[in-house]
Amino acid sequence: MSTLLDIRNLTRDFRLGSSTVTALDNVSLTLNAGEILGIVGESGSGKSTLARIVMALDLPTSGTVVLDQQDLFDLNPRALRKARRDFQMVFQDPYGSLNPRHRVGRIIAEPLHLIADAPKGSQRRAMVGALLADVGLDPEDQDRFPHEFSGGQRQRIAIARALITKPRLLVADEATSALDLTVQRQILDLILDLRRKHGIAVLFITHNIGVVQDICDTVAVMQNGKLVEVGTAKAVLDAPSQIYTQRLLAAEPRLDVIGRKARHRS
Ligand code: ADP
Ligand code: MG
Repeated sequence: MSTLLDIRNLTRDFRLGSSTVTALDNVSLTLNAGEILGIVGESGSGKSTLARIVMALDLPTSGTVVLDQQDLFDLNPRALRKARRDFQMVFQDPYGSLNPRHRVGRIIAEPLHLIADAPKGSQRRAMVGALLADVGLDPEDQDRFPHEFSGGQRQRIAIARALITKPRLLVADEATSALDLTVQRQILDLILDLRRKHGIAVLFITHNIGVVQDICDTVAVMQNGKLVEVGTAKAVLDAPSQIYTQRLLAAEPRLDVIGRKARHRS
């Protein structure tokens, strides 16, 4: 399988007055096309800093990110804009991440500004409708407003928005953390479905190690900006080598024990 994402020796220091916080400390990871990589670690371990850098929303102090053979921080603004369609993100807060004044159709179509010859009018409407169906909602839901939907449905809308540019990589930063466990389960099943259908690779970031159990191929564990353990999901979760990982496992409920295939609309 080919390497889609190559994270090389990323370090990110934040200067706070006279002191420095090292949010990321020499982190290297790779992700193959179509694979799901879980990044777990307690709050403050550097997960969101990593996500922001992979999304080219922040610059590392040193190190680089290579997506599909392109060094993201070597691209000129025009080339970076073009590359952006290949990686999209879903955030934690299903309430704050959708503009309440816009209809769902407009929200989902928003990333199309990255594509010069993107479809318009009825073609665009059909495209948005198909995506809504893909994430388990009704194509006609594009005429409604975010407040008409539950938290789980809003995350489905956020996922549809992320998919509209046909990205090769989806970065989900605590995308299920604000949802109750049953709804989390449904969103995880949706992500698995989308991977199966579209072959999309996912960087799945969560403080809750119990969530990654049965969706990730590989799991990386972070502590204080460092990668402390990385391996197949089975190896890391069934036989963690680090006490820190064992502690994370002991602290969290495991989602695999909750109705594995609850596929109702959330
Ligand atoms: P996580 O997502 O795992 O909770 P973060 O990546 O948000 O962790 O944060 C890692 C560390 O970097 C924390 O100590 C946090 O306070 C610090 N940090 C993150 N962003 C900034 C920033 N913009 N300025 C200063 N410190 C930051
Ligand atoms: Mg975070």
